[in-house]
Amino acid sequence: NQGLGSWPARRARMTPDRVALSYRGDHRTYADLRERVNRLASGLGVRRGDRVAYLGANQPAMVETFFAAGLLGAVFVPLNTRLAAPELRFILDDAEASVLVLGEERAGDGLPGRHVEAAEYEDLIASGSPEPVDEPVSQDDVCLIMYTSGTTGRPKGAMLTHANLTWNTVNLLVDVPLAHDEVVLISAPMFHIAALAQTLIPSVLKGGRAILEPSFDVERTFDLIEAERVTVMFGVPSMFGFLTRSPRWATADLSSLRHLLCGGAPVPEPLIRTYQDRGLTFLQGYGMTEVAPGALFLGAEHSVAKAGTAGVPCFFSDVRLVAPDGSPAAQGEPGELYVEGPNVMPGYWRSPEESAKVLSEDGWFRSGDIGVADEDGYIRISDRINDVIISGGENIYPAEVESALYEHTAVAECAVIGVPDEKWGEVGKALVVLRYGVTVEPEDLLRHLDGRLARYKIPKYLEFVAELPKNAAGKLLKAPLRKLYGG
Ligand code: ATP
Ligand code: MG
Repeated sequence: NQGLGSWPARRARMTPDRVALSYRGDHRTYADLRERVNRLASGLGVRRGDRVAYLGANQPAMVETFFAAGLLGAVFVPLNTRLAAPELRFILDDAEASVLVLGEERAGDGLPGRHVEAAEYEDLIASGSPEPVDEPVSQDDVCLIMYTSGTTGRPKGAMLTHANLTWNTVNLLVDVPLAHDEVVLISAPMFHIAALAQTLIPSVLKGGRAILEPSFDVERTFDLIEAERVTVMFGVPSMFGFLTRSPRWATADLSSLRHLLCGGAPVPEPLIRTYQDRGLTFLQGYGMTEVAPGALFLGAEHSVAKAGTAGVPCFFSDVRLVAPDGSPAAQGEPGELYVEGPNVMPGYWRSPEESAKVLSEDGWFRSGDIGVADEDGYIRISDRINDVIISGGENIYPAEVESALYEHTAVAECAVIGVPDEKWGEVGKALVVLRYGVTVEPEDLLRHLDGRLARYKIPKYLEFVAELPKNAAGKLLKAPLRKLYGG
């Protein structure tokens, strides 16, 4: 068995007694994990190729179900717990899941298929066989259907193979020298690719201890970092931002942290500097579900000098920037970012048409994101193609305007969208969440942009708002913003 399902057993051969998973004060060793995965695989009643869905928070059952499915040559389908019942039903029907494993706190009311609730789950494990199932699994078998975050529309089911996830892990380890004794805090949901592929899977490979947290909480994060001496953490920028705005930021003992991995959304430069000032190196990655997910990485060595870029292509992946006419974008010019490599998905689940739109015949994946390369090949991700504002024939990249706004200390969060304008077609409108307790006027922020940005890029409107809409991955949702404020 060449697949990821064999990894707990491979790890247990080497370090059976080391703790693999910690959850609410419970600890399971690699030997425990191996046995529970074997028992679950034998008792789950699914066959090669079947889809095994999981609905619940980060818990040991999620990890065990993922590896057990992999061992059987089945396909793990983690569901976003924030989706509403009709959305879940749509995915479960679409994936034709033969079983739905429910996390501790979840009931499966009204959802299709056979359910395994928490109590029955433990019965399955108790009655299953501890011997490994013998199923030939190849690296090219699909082991995961991971739905995209749904930032730009309905989530799409990206099929990822064992090879895709393995190569992503290799890419990650080239840049992040994980040791054998890492304590990895996983509080971003593993139903999104980053937490699963950038923290859990590498932790199991290296024999680290993964602390599973059902949700992200600022206080709890500081508690765990201090009490458990956490060494590795992944977060989207908003999570890392929350930590810096807590009163504990200044006093917490963060000396155990070795690698802070951040990605999934544009990382504001001041955030990188704030961590730097605290002596913490911030590693930045750019990627997407469809490439399992790493495409670009900014390693520790260049994290300050090249702050604001997402780095260079991962070791075994290639990236190119394509101008609107299909030619290679010149250095310094924006182009759509394409990715190729052993981590690129074979396609979207049962969507040959959608797949053909993003995958070329020679294996390049179109990201829909715009990047600009500097003279050293470091790529700055500017925007999603659909978010670009066209004003009087000029392209305005909202990300550029947002970075300039972030340089003002009063700005906690911001987003720039295009709104219709009679004269220019579209103009920019900035929506700003102020830091707690500061008072400034919109004009002050607009004056701050004066001289930093070309005239046409300065938003015509600037409004203060209490919060910005985000999805479960912590990503800013521009579509609802346009609906709310675009008129
Ligand atoms: P959907 O495809 O359903 O609209 P999504 O693209 O947000 O949702 P993901 O695959 O989770 O779903 O996210 C990938 C996207 O996140 C990238 O295409 C990019 O737009 C954004 N992204 C990821 N990392 C970074 C980063 N470091 N800087 C800027 N943007 C990033
Ligand atoms: Mg996407």
